[in-house]
Amino acid sequence: MIKKIEHIGIAVEDLKQAIPIYEKIFGVPCYKQERVDSESVITAFFSVGDSKLELLQATDPSSPIAKFLEKRGGGFHHIAFEVDHIETEITRLEKEGFSLIHLTPKDGADNKRIAFLHPKSGLGMLIELCQEKNSKNPS
Ligand code: ZN
Repeated sequence: MIKKIEHIGIAVEDLKQAIPIYEKIFGVPCYKQERVDSESVITAFFSVGDSKLELLQATDPSSPIAKFLEKRGGGFHHIAFEVDHIETEITRLEKEGFSLIHLTPKDGADNKRIAFLHPKSGLGMLIELCQEKNSKNPS
């Protein structure tokens, strides 16, 4: 089951330049930066009221973020939904005929297990499913 929007992902060319700008816009400091080598990104997180935002910068040219920036420039990149049981959601969407980039969850930033839906399956929207690593699965 999808519980809520967990965060919104924003692609940036350069975190060093982007963080102070977003800090001014949001009025709060970045609370965490984390490198995710499996995705070739460095992430930076902001907590704004009840909402969370993730900035993503590519660490090498083969990174999906580098390819995205090349095609579309910086800005809105993905929307992430918190789910109560990520394997169940992957199976459900697969059965519905959606194509997923990750059929088994992988480690993401900020203590999450994640899986992305293919943007072609989301009508151009890149959708991330995520589940807190130490959250208990519902029985
Ligand atoms: Zn994300």
